[in-house]
Amino acid sequence: MNIPCLAVIIPCYNEEDCINKTSDRLLEVLAELEKNSIISNNSFILYSNDGSCDNTWGKIQDYNKKTSGKIKGIKFSRNFGNQKAILAGLFEASKYNPDCYITIDADLQQDETKIGEFIEKYKQGAKIVCGIRNDRHTDKFLKKSTALAFYKLMNILGVNIKVNHSDYRLVSKEIIDILKTFPETNLFLRGIFNDLGFKKDYVYFDVKDRSCGVTKFTPLSLFSLALNGITSFSIVPLRFVTILGFVMSLLSIILGIETIIAKYFGEFMVPGWASIIVITGFIGGIQIFCLGIIGEYIGQLFQEVKARPRYIIEEWLD
Ligand code: UDP
Ligand code: MG
Repeated sequence: MNIPCLAVIIPCYNEEDCINKTSDRLLEVLAELEKNSIISNNSFILYSNDGSCDNTWGKIQDYNKKTSGKIKGIKFSRNFGNQKAILAGLFEASKYNPDCYITIDADLQQDETKIGEFIEKYKQGAKIVCGIRNDRHTDKFLKKSTALAFYKLMNILGVNIKVNHSDYRLVSKEIIDILKTFPETNLFLRGIFNDLGFKKDYVYFDVKDRSCGVTKFTPLSLFSLALNGITSFSIVPLRFVTILGFVMSLLSIILGIETIIAKYFGEFMVPGWASIIVITGFIGGIQIFCLGIIGEYIGQLFQEVKARPRYIIEEWLD
């Protein structure tokens, strides 16, 4: 195998405090790998600026000049979300024809010293190398427990994603060619890469504290990512609604028959308001919940059918 050219893709949103530190550190890591002929000298870094409102883009421009294009960048016209920033970064980097791509966050939370290990697994034949967190000690209790519950639920729903999967990942150029044929608007990249097949491997890494700045994910954006993950990869919730409806109908038929028989034999009927209210409330709740699930899928269809561009790039730095 020839010495591969590596593209490092970094999604970033309001990360002005991190750009200097992250760029210096990653340039150092790349220089070391290039010196040891693990990657080729034309390897590069591409920042995907997801509509930052601070000076993130200005800093990327400085580094682009300073490094004569070793650090490149694209700038979205507005914030489109981290998944789309990753996707656009991968697609735009493909113009430079690298052999493999690594996506990593701008805050250096993911152990950058493991990049060499990713490349080694790629050289051993893996087309997708996923980064798995050793633990989640940097996450707060709520984020940790909801993330674990999400992975468990995804597995129950038939989407077999490894627990503590991250978007720190290496993919080969063949994978990017295939990814380009996926037209979906609602992206859950962990699910897509997991679904493609091909030889996969894993690199385990320790999560560090954020090197600077604060998290750019709100509880709502994490919830929406999780919901996208479920509704774009599994129709089990819809099937659950069907089965639930069937079971409920069966129960109500049995209850109806029982009531008729009781009445026929002249049993004393207690006017059971409490139980009626509990049952109607319960059934009403389930109906609204089921409608909500169906609505989620219709919402997905709505966005997919419109097929609007997934992101808009305003500026490029070569
Ligand atoms: N990010 C992005 N767009 C967004 C939110 C986040 O490109 O709308 C980037 C962010 O700049 C970072 C990466 O996605 O490089 C992961 O975000 P963050 O570190 O805030 O998430 P956390 O590690 O807290 O889960
Ligand atoms: Mg982070």
